[in-house]
Amino acid sequence: GTVVPLPNPCLIVIMGLSGSGKSTFAEEHFAPIEILSSDRTRAVVSNNAADQDSTSAAFNLLYATLWYRMANHVTTVFDATNLEAAHRERLLNMARRHAVPAIAVVLDVPVKRCLQRIARRRRTVPTDRILAQADLWPEAMRQIGDEDFAALHVFTEDQIPNVVFRQDL
Ligand code: ATP
Ligand code: MG
Repeated sequence: GTVVPLPNPCLIVIMGLSGSGKSTFAEEHFAPIEILSSDRTRAVVSNNAADQDSTSAAFNLLYATLWYRMANHVTTVFDATNLEAAHRERLLNMARRHAVPAIAVVLDVPVKRCLQRIARRRRTVPTDRILAQADLWPEAMRQIGDEDFAALHVFTEDQIPNVVFRQDL
């Protein structure tokens, strides 16, 4: 597999389309308490992970929680689509402010596959929203390489199941 060294602590920013498998990937590799998930936090405030009207409340909570976790120097995974540079910048700023290195993990899964998976899972996402995300993808991929991440790891569909994180002491 691909061994990915992780500084301890670090902020892991996952970027991927809806249905790319961000939450599945995060849950496979990290403890529940280490994962800040936009869907789960929508559900925290509304009982409904798909409730887009809860997005603003959810992100307020997520950023507040991330702030305290960075201040406490504990490794945290930020599980959201993270397709917009301004959103990633906010995460980078919080990590930098507390001297925590930020690591970008990109799940580079074709939109066609994401649509297939969403159709099969319990929580659906409107197709037009995923297509809108796919429109942002090329620019996000160009930008993220120039951003202030300590490392950038891009994984294709075939590579995703073989990723192994190695936490440095
Ligand atoms: P969202 O942004 O909407 O939260 P997500 O990126 O978190 O989406 P998941 O919910 O983790 O995506 O996964 C989408 C669907 O794809 C799920 O049904 C999940 O079981 C399936 N899936 C996730 N990862 C894989 C994988 N590596 N191989 C096959 N299926 C997968
Ligand atoms: Mg998810």
